[in-house]
Amino acid sequence: MIRRVFFAAIVLGSIVSFGTDAIVAIELPQAKVLYKIDTTDKVVFFTADDGADKPADAEAELERLQWPISSFILPTKIGTYAGWFTGLGSHNDIGTHTAHHIALKGLTFDQQKSEICEGERRIKEKFGSTTGYFRPPYGSWDKRTLQAAAACGISHVVLWTVSLNGRTITTWDGKIHPGNIVLVHYVRSMAQSIRQLEKRLKAQGLTVARLSDYLK
Ligand SMILES: [Zn+2]
Repeated sequence: MIRRVFFAAIVLGSIVSFGTDAIVAIELPQAKVLYKIDTTDKVVFFTADDGADKPADAEAELERLQWPISSFILPTKIGTYAGWFTGLGSHNDIGTHTAHHIALKGLTFDQQKSEICEGERRIKEKFGSTTGYFRPPYGSWDKRTLQAAAACGISHVVLWTVSLNGRTITTWDGKIHPGNIVLVHYVRSMAQSIRQLEKRLKAQGLTVARLSDYLK
């Protein structure tokens, strides 16, 4: 515990006071965490994770719909497909998702920082840049995740409120609301999910907006 506090002191330029029986450290900076965007605009945000499959039918649907996408990609899933990912939809903003897809909650600051920074570094190598957004695998995070993410240059830790799996849409309260962040995975049923979401959004008068436009 003392070692961690001491490390924090180094990071912050020794803003620590040593009392006789207490050590007080200033909190480390944290990335912002969000499950949805606060807006009354009739928009949702489409996000896609991992990158295991590169389905041509999903690519065609996104070409037709011209939705903006925010992806959270694993470095091991890219291969020679970096251009495929960036060409999807109207924009595909590339974010990161750790190096090895592990659950972060409960791990030490150093363990979390190593996973997040390595993911960020390897995605930058493949794509040239990132949005600086990060999604923790399985939605598993704690306060140290936000601190570790900030130490890796991440501005936002992006969770979700709506998830798609094949034709199934899962929400918090059965509805899709303005500002919701929608999660899908790069899997073979991705096109099915996109068509299902398209129907639901149309019925509710919602469209898809670019996440980065709302995080400035
Ligand atoms: Zn994942």
